[in-house]
Amino acid sequence: MSAQTPSPRDSAIPWNPTSLSGLLEIIGATNMIIIMKTGTDQDVITPVIDRIQQLGLQAHPIIGEGQAIVGVVGLPLPPSLDEMFEVMPGVERVVRVSKKYKLAGWDFHPHKTVIQIGDVAIGSDEVTVIAGPCSVETEEQTMEAAHAVRAAGAKLLRGGAYKPRTSPYEFRGLGVQGLEILAKAREQTGLKIITEVMTPSDVEIVGQYTDVFQIGARNCQNYLLLEEVGKANKPVMLKRGLSLLIEEWLLAAEYVMAQGNPNVILCERGIRTFENATRNTLDVSAVPVIQSMSHLPVFIDPSHAAGKRAFVPSLALAGIAAGADGLMIEVHPNPDMAMSDGAQSLDFTEFASLMPKMSAIATAVNRTLPIPSGAAV
Ligand code: PEP
Ligand code: MN
Repeated sequence: MSAQTPSPRDSAIPWNPTSLSGLLEIIGATNMIIIMKTGTDQDVITPVIDRIQQLGLQAHPIIGEGQAIVGVVGLPLPPSLDEMFEVMPGVERVVRVSKKYKLAGWDFHPHKTVIQIGDVAIGSDEVTVIAGPCSVETEEQTMEAAHAVRAAGAKLLRGGAYKPRTSPYEFRGLGVQGLEILAKAREQTGLKIITEVMTPSDVEIVGQYTDVFQIGARNCQNYLLLEEVGKANKPVMLKRGLSLLIEEWLLAAEYVMAQGNPNVILCERGIRTFENATRNTLDVSAVPVIQSMSHLPVFIDPSHAAGKRAFVPSLALAGIAAGADGLMIEVHPNPDMAMSDGAQSLDFTEFASLMPKMSAIATAVNRTLPIPSGAAV
């Protein structure tokens, strides 16, 4: 430390070590803490404080024995603030106290979100099952699937009319004709419907038919699409991107919510790992982790995680055991003939026999999953 530079202990920055309550008040209000390197001089701390103030935030330096920290108070904190201070001279570490996601997190919303879709309450004690084919192929196929999944206890019908396919040469959906078939299935069965929207310009037309927008894994960070469904007045299921961190996923949900749409359902559908025995790796831990970070309902999609129908039941049961608010499962009248994702689709018998097992696990974790009395198991 040079002779000319005052040591942190001699600093002119106000610091009253006797006022413990004042200190606690500052710590309680602090949104970010900047920890300075041991022995950092005042002239190195001052630019950090200046920068904080230039951003319209308050700086609360706490100068100790050879050690200084600076509390940052004020909201909103720009998301990239951590990185900005981390590279400033004399800064050892930056700890963000307040979350980057505000609307999706518990801090400003202490109650779990329950999304009412007709008589279905997603996020309630009841575990919600969404089932149906990967793609809407024909009216007959969709209608058959709708009746079968309803009879087994599913509450929503799924089916893609706009399909994101890995290869452009694969079946990419029936478009508006598919939406019309879904609407007809809703009319006949009373099941609410969920279908994927892939591009902002389709939000309006898909919204004319669907009860819930599905945003696919590949579009989880398509921010213009997220904003467009955020402006729509329908719930949104946001499937986790193939390599998305949970925080990034919550920030994607934040895009929807920031446009005024609070009804977001998160759906874990497997992430890409080194393992290739399954199509993806189901991150079951995402369920309790999300629930500790967010009030939004969280679903499991065991079908896209497994990729093979033999593994779907185990992953479905694991999802419920982990506390998922619901499941989305692919079910097809004749999986071997399906135009997409047949290998991971259950047939009607397999789905009907899985439902009571899921119901038993739901009961074991203090949830409910009612099975219709006439269900053929
Ligand atoms: C789907 O649900 O059929 C689908 C394409 O899912 P994902 O976006 O998770 O791959
Ligand atoms: Mn699919």
